[in-house]
Amino acid sequence: MSKSCIGIDLGGTSIKFAAVDGDFRPGPVLQLATPVEEGPPGVSAQMVAGVRQLMESQNLSAGDVLGIGIGAPGPLNLTDGIVVAMPNIPGMEDVPIRDLVSGGTGLPAALENDANAAAYGEYMCGAGVDTKNMVLLTLGTGIGGGLVLGGKIYHGTNTAAGEIGHSIVVPGGETCSCGQLGCLERYSSAAFMAKYATDLVEQDGRTGALADRLAEAGEITAKDIQQAAAAGDALADEVWSRGMYHLAVGCVNICRWLDPDKIVLAGGMTKAGEGLMKPLMEHFRRVHWSLTEPLTTIEIAKLGSDAGVIGAAGVAWDAFGRETRGFAKEPEG
Ligand SMILES: [Zn+2]
Repeated sequence: MSKSCIGIDLGGTSIKFAAVDGDFRPGPVLQLATPVEEGPPGVSAQMVAGVRQLMESQNLSAGDVLGIGIGAPGPLNLTDGIVVAMPNIPGMEDVPIRDLVSGGTGLPAALENDANAAAYGEYMCGAGVDTKNMVLLTLGTGIGGGLVLGGKIYHGTNTAAGEIGHSIVVPGGETCSCGQLGCLERYSSAAFMAKYATDLVEQDGRTGALADRLAEAGEITAKDIQQAAAAGDALADEVWSRGMYHLAVGCVNICRWLDPDKIVLAGGMTKAGEGLMKPLMEHFRRVHWSLTEPLTTIEIAKLGSDAGVIGAAGVAWDAFGRETRGFAKEPEG
């Protein structure tokens, strides 16, 4: 039996598990409910039980599994394997989740931020498979980021690297929840595009299909904006294009700083497909420098919501399986 590593994606509503073999082929994903009401002991017990259940269903013995990677939302203490806080789960504060899972399963474990794990998943076996340097941008309610540079997750000195949603794209602009002014997230995330559109209707009295939608449904979503923009609504087009313009500015800044092979876009907003890519690429080409053609490609992610659990297994491969696998995808430098 070839060796595998197991990934766990810890979320506030569900916990996902998957085994990934040495050729980076992921097996089926097991999903269990997060027993929020049982607090940290119940959550860690569910993680251990899920690993056992997955190993049984995949016919994996303890000797077949090199280790476990855990992806969890921040803030985390990666060095000590601790979840510092997880607002969705009451009592989940300063919980040594890495050692609890390792102790319960008898397997070595590593902890990683969930956005970084998703980036690593796309790098290993998704849209970033042919890259050395890849940036993942998660476009949803907020904007998250993950950096894989030279084949390794890049954490920065204070494990705060990759917070691309909080790069400033409008100096002196709108106030972000992080305390800065003009963050990318404040202009291009689903939540803030929806808020901007709503403000234009309610405060500036703008009309049209999107305004009708607000009156009818009581709220506007990013999906409403994109669809109304595609159908030719002027207000929707203005809001969507503004979001894509600032996202393009963010992407150009990523190119200037990091020169990655690829920027991979994930998250709910990417369901718009060409409705997102077309305006984004038009703005990107326009705001990009003229010294060269754009050398970094921008592409939609391939693994969907499984990127996190697959990437968590990849984190375990990186931590515990380098010698076993020989790491064929070792970068040249
Ligand atoms: Zn911010």
